[in-house]
Amino acid sequence: MIVDVHVHVSALSPENGLMSRKLIRSLPFRFIKWRLGLSGEDARTEAQLRRVLFTTLENTPELDAAVMLAFDAVHDRAGNLDLANTHLYTRNDYVISLATQHRKILFGASIHPYRKDAVQELERCVKAGAVLLKWLPITQGMNPADDACIPFYEALAHHKLPLLCHTGGEKSLPNIAPDTPSPRLLLPALERGVTVIAAHCGTRSTFTEQDYVRDFMAMCHEHEHFYGDTSALNLPTRSHAFKMVLGDKVVRSKLVHGSDWPIPVIPPIGTIGLARSAECFMEGNWLRRDILIKQCMDFDEAYWHRAGRVLRLTGHSQRQLQNLHTAGIEAG
Ligand SMILES: [Zn+2]
Repeated sequence: MIVDVHVHVSALSPENGLMSRKLIRSLPFRFIKWRLGLSGEDARTEAQLRRVLFTTLENTPELDAAVMLAFDAVHDRAGNLDLANTHLYTRNDYVISLATQHRKILFGASIHPYRKDAVQELERCVKAGAVLLKWLPITQGMNPADDACIPFYEALAHHKLPLLCHTGGEKSLPNIAPDTPSPRLLLPALERGVTVIAAHCGTRSTFTEQDYVRDFMAMCHEHEHFYGDTSALNLPTRSHAFKMVLGDKVVRSKLVHGSDWPIPVIPPIGTIGLARSAECFMEGNWLRRDILIKQCMDFDEAYWHRAGRVLRLTGHSQRQLQNLHTAGIEAG
């Protein structure tokens, strides 16, 4: 089973989530909107995006499934919702409903660990078929090394739900906790028995910023249940990591496939050459272009199937998801 562990969806109607005006009007988002053919800033835009997403999945035969990521709102250390600092919010229930609408969509939950009901919400999401839990600390405002996360880690370990956590810099979304890019902060999660996937392998998001690929690689050697996804590595600031992670036997055995759709995918000419880059560039579907580029590299067969194994999709979760699909079809 070939799975992309890192696909985003945003929502614009209050029942499904929100995007702040600041974010919608930012240059990267205006470019993505234009590229996907979206117009407006309301529920109709949300429906357009849904259709684009479904078509994109249909037009990517290489993938059996993609994990669609919810994105929780910012909460302060006392557990209060902080809407003023929330620029992107995609509710778990919205992604649960998307998973009932398309056979290739898996539910990636997102829960802020400082929420008073964090463990309760986790249990609800697990029952609804969540295959992983997603955080972006820099933008959501949690610190993975904070003791306040420990009860949540214990619950993740108990439910065997992997944590997919952004590592390295972030430039497409506002930074409210800029001191949290290091993969080293995830140590307390690993110590409590959580399987951790470091998104982007600790890569920088601008050329001037600190890069954490070496820390990421060291942690792959040190911790059995520590992995990294290859999402957004097809960006010029992050693509230097391909050579590094593929050149280390242990690290390459820890890589899982992810795209970070709808973030742009730019073929790394320095890695795959001009001719193959031009060929990949001809594929207009970014979800598929990301795969075509990685197929030109030294990824082995195990890489493509690893996400399914790490997310335990051959057993429990997949069965739950099928039940959920059936429940959705019956309800709808
Ligand atoms: Zn992402």
